[in-house]
Amino acid sequence: MAKAKTKSSPKLLAKQPKSSKSEPSKRKSSRPKSSRSWTPAEVREAFERFRKANPEPKGELEHLNPFTLLVAVVLSAQATDAGVNKATRALFEVADTPQKMLALGEAKLRDYIRTIGLYRNKAKNVIALSEKLIAEFGGEVPRTRAEIESLPGAGRKTANVVLNMAFGEHTMAVDTHVFRVGNRTALAPGNTPLEVELGLEKVVPPEFMRHAHHWLILHGRYTCLARKPRCEVCLINDLCRWPEKTV
Ligand code: SF4
Repeated sequence: MAKAKTKSSPKLLAKQPKSSKSEPSKRKSSRPKSSRSWTPAEVREAFERFRKANPEPKGELEHLNPFTLLVAVVLSAQATDAGVNKATRALFEVADTPQKMLALGEAKLRDYIRTIGLYRNKAKNVIALSEKLIAEFGGEVPRTRAEIESLPGAGRKTANVVLNMAFGEHTMAVDTHVFRVGNRTALAPGNTPLEVELGLEKVVPPEFMRHAHHWLILHGRYTCLARKPRCEVCLINDLCRWPEKTV
């Protein structure tokens, strides 16, 4: 799959928070203590609005094929997509397959990604996962969750992103933005990313699942901001259950 850098709608790109993203593991949420659950009609209405505003939402991690997507996601833990893209643009020019990554070697790989947090450990993982892809999967990114999660540096979120973006599966990757939106809105409250993931899978109608993860990430990244949500321009402000919303 050839994929160049993708863009979100201008409106969504209007404000970009500087905070890095992270796996929101076991963090207490900002969900309303008790709120009325969304009706199926309300959930459908919300996703119809997201779809109308941005029919083909894209992820913002630059990649060229499933392998470079996998590497980009592994590098993105505790880092911003923009920071990862800055490093991987040059890296993927010389190493867009596991074989080329091994030929590059760990020391040179470190030089390409040293602006990314935890780069030493991430370089180790990228070399180890490249070796494993060649040894066990014919040099290809595997297509099952269990196989992807067996790769060094790859967890459930990585598997969800790769399965969704590279292979079109209806997975729901929960990063810090999706976690916050799921809880604040009360669309899918949960104390862990897994609870929010399973909650969203339960309530989001199948026809929206292909893109739901991107709509929610972009909504959290550019509208439902962590510190100061932009409720006044929020597409779903009438549906949101957050008691502190400003509209
Ligand atoms: S109304 Fe405010 S808190 Fe609710 S989803 Fe929109 S931006 Fe977030």
